[in-house]
Amino acid sequence: MNILITGGAGFIGSAVIRHIIKNTDHQVLNVDKLTYAGNLESLADIDQNVNYGFSQIDICDAESLAQAFDSFKPNLVMHLAAESHVDRSIDGPAEFITTNIVGTYTLLEAARHYWQALAETEKSSFKFHHISTDEVYGDLEGTMDLFTESTAYAPSSPYSASKASSDHLVRAWQRTYGLPTLITNCSNNYGPYHFPEKLIPLVILNALDGKNLPVYGKGDQIRDWLYVEDHARALYKVVTEGVVGETYNIGGHNEKQNIEVVKTICKILDELQPQANGEPYESLISFVKDRPGHDLRYAIDASKIDNELNWTPNESFESGIRKTVIWYLDNLDWCRRVQDGSYQRERLGAKE
Ligand code: NAD
Repeated sequence: MNILITGGAGFIGSAVIRHIIKNTDHQVLNVDKLTYAGNLESLADIDQNVNYGFSQIDICDAESLAQAFDSFKPNLVMHLAAESHVDRSIDGPAEFITTNIVGTYTLLEAARHYWQALAETEKSSFKFHHISTDEVYGDLEGTMDLFTESTAYAPSSPYSASKASSDHLVRAWQRTYGLPTLITNCSNNYGPYHFPEKLIPLVILNALDGKNLPVYGKGDQIRDWLYVEDHARALYKVVTEGVVGETYNIGGHNEKQNIEVVKTICKILDELQPQANGEPYESLISFVKDRPGHDLRYAIDASKIDNELNWTPNESFESGIRKTVIWYLDNLDWCRRVQDGSYQRERLGAKE
């Protein structure tokens, strides 16, 4: 099959591409604008593979998208391109509206025109998989409540509101035009190649540099953490085996308070790379003013994808977070090139 993946130079998209190229014979076209979050160095393991190709395209550019569809002729589309960082959406929501809403609309239209022109046999097997977040459901009040596929949308941040809008567009294109779509809503991911502005890599790298470990409010926000390679496996299962028109929630069965996450990382680092001054890394924790509109708790009921597609995560939080810390310790070069901006400066030689 030919699989067109948007946002494949990002954290989750690159994990999906590595998973597909290493485990299948499918052809992949990575369509990515290469914003600050896009890093082709995350694909260095597979970028010489004959089944992999890259095209630098903004998903708001209808003409370039149409050309990519016509020349690559995808059987499947996996749409991950997005502006994804909540803090950035608070400081500057415009890019989130443009990419997440207008970009998804533009991609849906490109997919619809391409799909409508396909021969009947190819038309029936084409699928458009939209990758979304559990943040569209907003905050959970009861401590035992879980987000299910029928939980009402109640987004709190410009990021989650823009993702909620894009989910609605995808459903509308399915109901109105019959475009064969699937949607997944996933909890917080962590793992290798995560951009260093996000909580887990930020804590690891700040700790190694002896800097403060900033924690919002009291650190009592609860997230359901999923190891990114488990998410990549789930996404491939949904796009290949999922039922068109359905939504699947994906979660890690790993609810943790942010402060617990930070303390766990500190303990692993104390063991693997203790501070030169002998102090525990926890001494670097510093509580900072909470983010406006910060949701307290997200937690996913992932029983549908387990029952219907037989997917559960392989990693517990304990095994996944240890793997992640070890990956960062072994790949400081990748991190430093992101932190000093060299991953962006050397893109001119990128494979087209
Ligand atoms: P990311 O920010 O790491 O990567 C986003 C990618 O999209 C980058 O490669 C970027 O260059 C590309 N991109 C941005 N704007 C673009 C545009 N206009 N045209 C083409 N490409 C563009 O994001 P991520 O964490 O890998 O998330 C991927 C998807 O999964 C997003 O849709 C996000 O909403 C969703 N998601 C993320 C998480 C998480 O914990 N990270 C959880 C659930 C769902």
